[in-house]
Amino acid sequence: MQLVWLRNDLRLDDHPALHGAARARSGVLAVAVLTPEQWRAHDAAPARIAFWLATLRRLQDELATRNIGLRVLSARYFTDIPALLLQLARDSGARGLWFNREYPLDEARRDALVTATFRAAGIPVTACDGDCVLPPGSLATAAGTCFRVFTPFARTWRRELAATGWTPLPTPDQQPALPAGDAVPESLPGWPAAFRADLWPAGGAAARRRLAQFVAREHPDYADRRDFPAMDGTSGLSPYLACGALSARQCVAAVAAHAGTRDWLGDSWVGELIWRDFFRHLIAAFPDLSRWRPFRPEVEARIRWRDDAHRWQSWCRGETGFPMVDAGLRQLLATGWMHNRVRMIAASFLTKLLGIDWRLGARFFMRHLIDGDFASNLGGWQWCASVGADAAPYFRIFNPIIQGRRFDPEGDYLACWLPELAALPPARRHDPAAASAAGRPLPIIDYRAARAASLAGYQAGG
Ligand SMILES: Cc1cc2nc3c(=O)[nH]c(=O)nc-3n(C[C@H](O)[C@H](O)[C@H](O)COP(=O)(O)OP(=O)(O)OC[C@H]3O[C@@H](n4cnc5c(N)ncnc54)[C@H](O)[C@@H]3O)c2cc1C
Repeated sequence: MQLVWLRNDLRLDDHPALHGAARARSGVLAVAVLTPEQWRAHDAAPARIAFWLATLRRLQDELATRNIGLRVLSARYFTDIPALLLQLARDSGARGLWFNREYPLDEARRDALVTATFRAAGIPVTACDGDCVLPPGSLATAAGTCFRVFTPFARTWRRELAATGWTPLPTPDQQPALPAGDAVPESLPGWPAAFRADLWPAGGAAARRRLAQFVAREHPDYADRRDFPAMDGTSGLSPYLACGALSARQCVAAVAAHAGTRDWLGDSWVGELIWRDFFRHLIAAFPDLSRWRPFRPEVEARIRWRDDAHRWQSWCRGETGFPMVDAGLRQLLATGWMHNRVRMIAASFLTKLLGIDWRLGARFFMRHLIDGDFASNLGGWQWCASVGADAAPYFRIFNPIIQGRRFDPEGDYLACWLPELAALPPARRHDPAAASAAGRPLPIIDYRAARAASLAGYQAGG
């Protein structure tokens, strides 16, 4: 019997740990550990946890088709896990433990602790890589270090992928008998079971369907449509990727299969998956990022963040008086998701124009996002605040009104999330004065003055 520890890799296919453990056909027991206190300490959104539990329930049925059982254990914190897992291994007579690596610091330490505990007990542990297309450690600069700049990382990533050739792993082998399992709870005390199942039906089958549909229908126009939040121009796959119902390699494989002889490696959607890998390589190589330290402390040292409850609360509630920012926050609060372009506008607004610490914004996003992902969220926030690896230069400050007019020219996104504005002609919906006359709050800052203050702060130290 082999034990497979499931985390944010809730899928049957392209799962290196399941695949490896199942090869001996001597029986596989999967185990998931619920850690509500740790989730809270990590700012996990209730919607993300509810989606994760629903995905685990679907996966249990899929595992059963291969005679793989699922045990569900409960712990408070990561530090409680080694003893619990070892007990399960002893009770079930497991001869080995398998898992797919996770790269943020707390997760890496948890895995090291579990590995040490099992090895001390004489049970072998196999750590696999299933979270990235190309895992941390597999790509390096000529000097042998982790890339700090995206473009050479992406170039090397593409070259490596073209050279190595790969396909996602198949479904794990059928096992001799189904071990007894546990029911996956619908919800946990203090964690409401709500997520937008109408937008993201849980489970691997739904994820694969959406991937196939996206690649066939929307993907050809992705480069032209991805920045327009009123269009269905992006895949909407991030919640599935975040809990691992789908692997990044399955996404790349779907693009490759659909492209035929066309050059798919240069594809802009694949480029976004490379950003995902890039942030994972960074978080694995630079543990300080997991300690909420900026990649470029020398830039942050020049900034004095403001402690301004009114500005902060207005942003959190979507009441800044800047329609594009407010619509984004409303979308986040209503669905647990925000379009990438609007994430950039909202994050740039909070950090550069309101002068509020990116850490607060990053935590707020994590507490609400159904696709909350520590590495991508941290990378996105540090990029927007100009303190990250290969980040936007400090003088690039998004004007939320111009951004709105460019990327939501008909004001459809605004009318959807701020219905007060639907009666205004499209051209006027992005205008804060017209919006406040239509019932929206007055702008909480003067854009020009805030921009000048931000530039002065980033240049000179507050
Ligand atoms: C401030 C900020 C915070 C963010 N927080 C998160 C987060 O917590 N979780 C998260 O998954 N993404 C995050 N992103 C990245 C991006 O906004 C989302 O991945 C994207 O909006 C998800 O929508 P989609 O699946 O339709 O993306 P698509 O455009 O279809 O892209 C496909 C996949 O590529 C990955 N991806 C796309 N853009 C990025 C990016 N810029 N960085 C890293 N990976 C990317 C995602 O896994 C996404 O599902 C953040 C971006 C910013 C600017």
